Amino acid sequence: MAIQSFIPPQRTLMGPGPSDVSQRVLSALARPTIGHLDPEFITMMDEVKQLLQYAFKTKNENTMAISAPGSAGMEACFVNLITPDDTVVVCRNGVFGARMIENVQRIGAKLVIVDSPWGRAVEPQRLEDTLKAHPQANFVAFVHAETSTGACSDAKSLCEIAKRYQCLTIVDAVTSLGGIELRVDDWGIDAIYSGSQKCLSCVPGISPVSFSEQASEVIQRRSTPVQSWFLDQSLVMGYWSGKGKRAYHHTAPVNSLYALHESLLMLQQEGIENAWHRHQSQHQVLAQGLTELGLNFIVPEAERLPQLNAVYIPQGIDDASVRQMLLQEYNLEIGAGLGEFAGKAWRIGLMGFTARRENVALCLTAMAEALKKHR
Ligand SMILES: *Cc1c(COP(=O)(O)O)cnc(C)c1O
Repeated sequence: MAIQSFIPPQRTLMGPGPSDVSQRVLSALARPTIGHLDPEFITMMDEVKQLLQYAFKTKNENTMAISAPGSAGMEACFVNLITPDDTVVVCRNGVFGARMIENVQRIGAKLVIVDSPWGRAVEPQRLEDTLKAHPQANFVAFVHAETSTGACSDAKSLCEIAKRYQCLTIVDAVTSLGGIELRVDDWGIDAIYSGSQKCLSCVPGISPVSFSEQASEVIQRRSTPVQSWFLDQSLVMGYWSGKGKRAYHHTAPVNSLYALHESLLMLQQEGIENAWHRHQSQHQVLAQGLTELGLNFIVPEAERLPQLNAVYIPQGIDDASVRQMLLQEYNLEIGAGLGEFAGKAWRIGLMGFTARRENVALCLTAMAEALKKHR
């Protein structure tokens, strides 16, 4: 049979990302493609940068959107800043902290790991004890919102400790940006990366990043070239901030950047603090409903992410069958467990445009039905 156009089903995306993309953002994506060095496009890139500075709450000049998913943003932060001479303290409380460790290992830098239990926030005291024991450490890296477990770490305190020990900070904000409080400048974050498809509710494939003045100096002072040509910030910066004289580095994903522009504009129009509150209030309704269904949260209340609700799968219930039923009968996607929680948990996302009352109601109705059928 001849292959035909692909028409995806209309789903409600309540997993760990991507989240639902609004019609407004999809419409932006469908506007005419223009050249990536067209003056009109360059003006739009400048606006994307301004909107990202708003979302990150930073004045960092070195703020941009990498043309690749969140994982590339992670890699960009590590390969640009770290050399084999450095000592990096990585806090691990889930899958994404473990990926940071792999990045450090591949660079060949000295690595010190601070482990906290999965499903809990990173413990500030453990970081402090580790920094005391390793005075040569010059970087601290951690995940603000651990999507694999639903735990929120206290980014402000962790950065404050890192600064007291003269360390630069690298923060994963893939799931936190737009969903919970995040203040890059006030908290002293030196390198941060996020993703387009979580609480920004844009299409996947773009990674917003920002580097502080001090981090940018470290990159400029490098004596060895960055091991990745594509992610080398000293080259990409000439493309994103060439002040009218932009140097061709690669071809930006033109239409995807229209979409990011629109989703960031929506965030600015809503007001980022309002977006944080919306995530929290929808989470509270969802959490109460899930608890009434007899589901138990993995993360203690004080450390929970509103945008990622991880609950234990009740004894004797078939994980895959429940998720299949939700997808087939309700067009509802929820996430499976990851890493230590594979087969043991569901991860219910309330990210960005998905975090609305009607989706919470749909999810609770569908879960109630699915649990009843499977008990
Ligand atoms: C999703 C996610 C990533 C990876 O982002 P991709 O866009 O899938 O590459 C990294 N860190 C965290 C915390 C995430 O949730």
